Amino acid sequence: MFPAIKYSEKELLTRIRSTTDADMARALSAREASFNDFLSLLSPLAAEKYMDEMRTEAERIRRMRFGNVARLYAPIYFSNFCVNSCVYCGFRTSNQFKRRRLSIDETIAEAEILRKWGMESVLLIAGSDPRTVNLDYMLPIVKKLRTMFAYISIELHPQTVDFYKALIAAGVHGMTLYQETYDQETYKRLHPSGPKSVYENRIAAPENGARAGFYNIGIGALLGLYNWRSEAVSMAAHTLSIRKVNWKVRNQISFPRITPMEGGFEIPNPVHTEELEQMMLSFRIFFPEIDMFISTREPHDFRMRVIQTCATHISAGSRVNPGGYAEAEKQSEGKDVGQFTVVDDHSVENVVEGLKKVHMEPVFKDWDPLFS
Ligand code: SF4
Repeated sequence: MFPAIKYSEKELLTRIRSTTDADMARALSAREASFNDFLSLLSPLAAEKYMDEMRTEAERIRRMRFGNVARLYAPIYFSNFCVNSCVYCGFRTSNQFKRRRLSIDETIAEAEILRKWGMESVLLIAGSDPRTVNLDYMLPIVKKLRTMFAYISIELHPQTVDFYKALIAAGVHGMTLYQETYDQETYKRLHPSGPKSVYENRIAAPENGARAGFYNIGIGALLGLYNWRSEAVSMAAHTLSIRKVNWKVRNQISFPRITPMEGGFEIPNPVHTEELEQMMLSFRIFFPEIDMFISTREPHDFRMRVIQTCATHISAGSRVNPGGYAEAEKQSEGKDVGQFTVVDDHSVENVVEGLKKVHMEPVFKDWDPLFS
């Protein structure tokens, strides 16, 4: 569990399991849901009897806070070199495949394709590799991307406050860092070597980002590694803890479910689609104001459903390997290894059409650095 939680995991799960109809009635009618209400929303009883009411309440909150706007974004993977050995990841160091680190020009070429597709918001991602993820490499890229996109965020291994400050000064506005799992035993087992094996370093990074002054800070757990209800409680506590460090931070949460990847991995705690939806609805009701992301790891129909009730950000056209967009343009036969399997491979155009069909308004730009 997130270390600052004062209750044991057993106590919290017992509380969740003992939710009553009266608890649910309170959670679904509260003007502002409490942490106790959040626990009720995560309960098996909620799953069994209250999903329709949860959808209605989450949608009401989502519409009130965000209207029908669905914000689009896309990742750019610039390196798949990695010194870590996360057993669930296609990029792990022991996986033998031809790795690729994009030159600055190649990264910009990827960005140009996304611009052509209309993207205004990008997430820069790389495996954990200090030879690539350093300021000499990152700053020129960010400065160039800053002239091309309204919004840039990063998903990199934990960095120092000074590193984050340098990226913010160059034009990065947000960071995302998944804890993967908040359970310390599971974390140790799944991250046997490399710098990522130190749980505490990773958990401290989003708060360091808040200290550095990022406007947006995203967290998440890789769903399937551990009991999803425990992870949900930890994610909520982590969100509150980041907010305490810097009240100006805008919290963001992602809900990545493990999909098949190169090298294979048996998912220890599979999360079913209904459970994922319950989790997302619970977050929307408890945290009316946070941004919630739904990625191409999920099927198209499910994405179109949750974007109406709880998610605010949706990726489109994603490629999860370095140089993936140039490859897609060439429609090349031999694809490089991706970090995970993309389930919704609809084009940006098709995702936009899908959103319009469900009466959502696809928005490429709702941020201008001039006003930051
Ligand atoms: S999850 Fe990240 S750190 Fe772990 S092996 Fe994959 S790319 Fe490397």
